[in-house]
Amino acid sequence: MVRLVDSRKRILVTGGAGFIGSHLVDELLSQGHEVICADNLFTGAKSNIEHLHSNPNFEFLRHDVTFPLYVEVDEIFNLACPASPVHYQHDPVQTTKTSVQGAINMLGLAKRLKCKILQASTSEVYGDPLLHPQPESYWGNVNPIGARSCYDEGKRCAETLFFDYRRQHGLKIKVARIFNTYGPRMHHADGRVVSNFIVQALQGAPITLYGKGQQTRSFCYVQDMVEGLIKLMETDDAITGPVNLGNPDESSIRSLAERIIGLTGSESEIVHKPLPEDDPKQRCPDISLAKEELDWAPSVQIDEGLNRTIDYFRKRLTNLVVQ
Ligand code: NAD
Ligand code: UDP
Repeated sequence: MVRLVDSRKRILVTGGAGFIGSHLVDELLSQGHEVICADNLFTGAKSNIEHLHSNPNFEFLRHDVTFPLYVEVDEIFNLACPASPVHYQHDPVQTTKTSVQGAINMLGLAKRLKCKILQASTSEVYGDPLLHPQPESYWGNVNPIGARSCYDEGKRCAETLFFDYRRQHGLKIKVARIFNTYGPRMHHADGRVVSNFIVQALQGAPITLYGKGQQTRSFCYVQDMVEGLIKLMETDDAITGPVNLGNPDESSIRSLAERIIGLTGSESEIVHKPLPEDDPKQRCPDISLAKEELDWAPSVQIDEGLNRTIDYFRKRLTNLVVQ
């Protein structure tokens, strides 16, 4: 998606040293914008952005969004928040604070600057959904007091704040509900299924299938996700979302494991582990709204995306062993 802009903007990306955030930063810079990345490096990594340090249009701020931030920008993408269950359950109070206080701080900044702000929300707002696939009109089935609640309810409250800032202060908001996304720069040890299975397969270690593996997810390649986020940000002010962004190509977790074993040529065996608490049984986005309002749909097929991710982890694991 190479496209040089005539109107260059200065854009803040919180969580810009993370997996999705760093790809978003790359794309915004390649479009000719200036980017400020604010990240506390909790789950992000300097290595995700080290190739940008000599770029005069890029600036990194080590900053925790639960504290106010004073910068001058034209747009804000608010992605700061740990996204993998292992990481967001590590310090659940901080996870809720990041979503809620982080949203209040970034909305306050957008209010002062009168600028557009996009929230990286999540399919987790639908919880363990009773409606399938999930349209944006579905209010969800979320446990408010379980192990996943710090993330799910934190993100739901952030959505509330975004819409209240719009109603009360006329802010220009965009809310993207991101479904499972994968690709290079996922943290190799963050426990998410794609990174876990690829790392296990490449190391010849047992593939850890939780439960029977009949639960489903729909996996979107990161490049498609970044395109969707930018298209949503570019919509006119009447369009706020929430808009589902994800790939509607649904598969069981068992078939994902078998696919990754096949693509890596691994001899790993599948072993079963207990299903985590409140693990959603099925998840698949209804992306009609994104197609209609953003003219967006994912284009990277699962095997292609997995092969690119496998290549990334092959190199990364070699470097980790050498270091
Ligand atoms: P990630 O963990 O790789 O990135 C999150 C980034 O936020 C990291 O760089 C981390 O250091 C930073 N961060 C965390 N807490 C912070 C804080 N208090 N202050 C500043 N920075 C902080 O995760 P990701 O997969 O890139 O997710 C990015 C966003 O997209 C998150 O908001 C996540 O909830 C959302 N999302 C992701 C997925 C997915 O499948 N990857 C799905 C749904 C929603
Ligand atoms: N999962 C699994 N083995 C793993 C990691 C995850 O079977 O090693 C399952 C997990 O139980 C869930 C699915 O894969 O059903 C997706 O998990 P992930 O943590 O990637 O995302 P989320 O549950 O937040 O969608």
